[in-house]
Amino acid sequence: MSKTDAQGPPAYRELSPWRLWREGSRRQKICLFGGWLVLLMLCAALGVGMVIWRWSGLPIAFGGVTVYLTIYPPLLICLLLTLTLGWWWGAIPAYCATFSLAVYAGMPLPWALLFALANPLGFAILVIGYQAIAMRRDLRALNALLFYVQQSFVACVFSSSGALIWSYTNHFERAALLPIWQGWWLGAFLQSVLIVGPLMALLWPRAERWLSAHPQLMRDTHTRSRQSLLGLLASVALGVLFYGFVTIGLAEGQVDKEAMRQTMWIFYWVFVAIVLFMAFFGYQLFVHWQKTQDHLLAELHRANAELQTLATTDALTGLLNRRAADRRLSAEWQRTRRTRRHAAMVLLDIDHFKQINDQYGHPAGDAALRRLSAVIQSVMRQVDFAARYGGEEFLIVLPDTDQQGAFAFAERLRVEVAASPVVHEEDSFNMQISLGVAIAREDEASHERWVSRADRALYRAKQGGRNRTAVDDAGVEKQA
Ligand code: GH3
Ligand code: MG
Ligand code: MG
Repeated sequence: MSKTDAQGPPAYRELSPWRLWREGSRRQKICLFGGWLVLLMLCAALGVGMVIWRWSGLPIAFGGVTVYLTIYPPLLICLLLTLTLGWWWGAIPAYCATFSLAVYAGMPLPWALLFALANPLGFAILVIGYQAIAMRRDLRALNALLFYVQQSFVACVFSSSGALIWSYTNHFERAALLPIWQGWWLGAFLQSVLIVGPLMALLWPRAERWLSAHPQLMRDTHTRSRQSLLGLLASVALGVLFYGFVTIGLAEGQVDKEAMRQTMWIFYWVFVAIVLFMAFFGYQLFVHWQKTQDHLLAELHRANAELQTLATTDALTGLLNRRAADRRLSAEWQRTRRTRRHAAMVLLDIDHFKQINDQYGHPAGDAALRRLSAVIQSVMRQVDFAARYGGEEFLIVLPDTDQQGAFAFAERLRVEVAASPVVHEEDSFNMQISLGVAIAREDEASHERWVSRADRALYRAKQGGRNRTAVDDAGVEKQA
C-alpha cells in the first residue's frame, strides 16, 4: 500500500488569510502578509509597465494567422500565489495589476472594473478543479502534471475573455480580434505550463511541507465534492464551448466558401452535443459511484455496530459479557481512584444450580438465568452495570455506593430473586442466590484484587449456608 493510500486521498488545502491574522505568529504574519503586499505592488507596477513599454507580444504564426504571444509577468506571480497559497492570495494582486494597466491605458472605469476580473475568473476555474479532484499539486508526478496542463488550458480560455473587452474598448476591427485573442490565451497557457509549471515543481514540495505543518492556519475545506465536480464539469464544458464559438465566429469572415462556413458550424454544434453529453455522463457516473460508496459505508457502519454488540454482550441474557465487564470494571476502578469516590461490587452465584438443571433440564436452567438477569436489571440503577461473569455467576458494579448501600442493594436483590418464580413450559420453580460484596480500595494495584475480594466474600456466603450476603472484611476494616 502506498503512502497516500494509507492516509486517504489528499485534501485541497488553502492558507486562510483570516486565520493567519488571528492565529499566526508575528514572524509568519510579517513574512506572508508583507511578502504578499510587496508582490501585489510589483504586479501593479508591472501592469503599468506593460503599457509604458508597449509590450504587445512576440509575433508567431498559429493556425493560419499571426498571433502576438503576450507574456504577462503579473500572471506568473499571481498564478504561483494561487496555486501555492489559495485563490484570494493570487486573485487580488491579479485584479490590481490588470486594473492599473487598464486605467493607465485609458480604459473607461466601468470597463476596467470588469476587465480586471478576467484573471481572477481563470484562477477560480483552476481552484474549482483542484477542489473537486483533490489532485496533488506536485507537478513532478505525471498525472498531476497532465491535470495541471488541462486545467490551465481551460483557465486561460476563461481569462482570455479579457481580450474581447480590450479589443472592444480600443475599437479594434473584427478581423484583428482573432490574433489578439488567440495570442492572449496561448501566451497565458504557454507561460502557465512552461514557466509556472517548472517553478511549481520546484517550489511546491517546500510549500506543501509548510502548509501541512500549520494545519491551524488552513481554511476549512468542506468536502462538497458533488458541487465542486458539477462546477468543474460545467466550467470546463462552458470554457471549451465558448472557445469554439468565439474561434469559429471570428474566423468565419476569413473563410470564403459558404459550404466551408456551414461545415464549420455543423461541426461546432455536434461538438457542443458531445461535450455536453460527456459532462452530463461524467456527472451521473460520479453521483452513481458516490451513492454506491455511501451505501457501502453505511453497511460497514451497521456491520461494525453489530459486531461491537456481539463482542460485548452475552447472547443468553443480553447483559455485558465477561470481556466487556473487565474493561468497564477497569475503567470504573481508575475513575474511583482518580476521584476518590466510592464504588461497590456485588458478585453473585445461583445456589444449587446443578440441581435445577438436573431436575428441570438445561433449557429451564437457561430460563432461570434469563429471569435472574431481568430481576437484576429491574433492581439496579441506571448508572450501575451488570454482567454475566461466568456460567451462573453475575457481577454488578455500583458507582458512588458505600458498603452499607451495597449491602442493602444485595439483600434487596436476594429477596427479590427468591420471590420471583421461574416459569418454563409446565414447570415453575424458585431459585436462591448467594452474594459477595466488596468496595473498591485505592491502595490496591489493580481491579483484579477487587474482584477476588468479592469472590472471597461470595465463598463465605456459600460456606455460611447460602441464600445470604457476605461483605468483604478487608473493606470493612478500611471503612471502620
Ligand atoms: P453452588 O450453590 O455451590 O453454587 O452449587 P451449584 O450447583 O450452583 O454449583 P456450581 O456453581 O459449581 O454449578 C454451576 C452449574 O451451572 C454447572 C453448569 O452445568 C451450570 N451452568 C453453567 N452455565 C450454564 C448455562 O448457560 N445454562 C445452564 N442451564 N446451566 C449452566
Ligand atoms: Mg452455583
Ligand atoms: Mg458457580
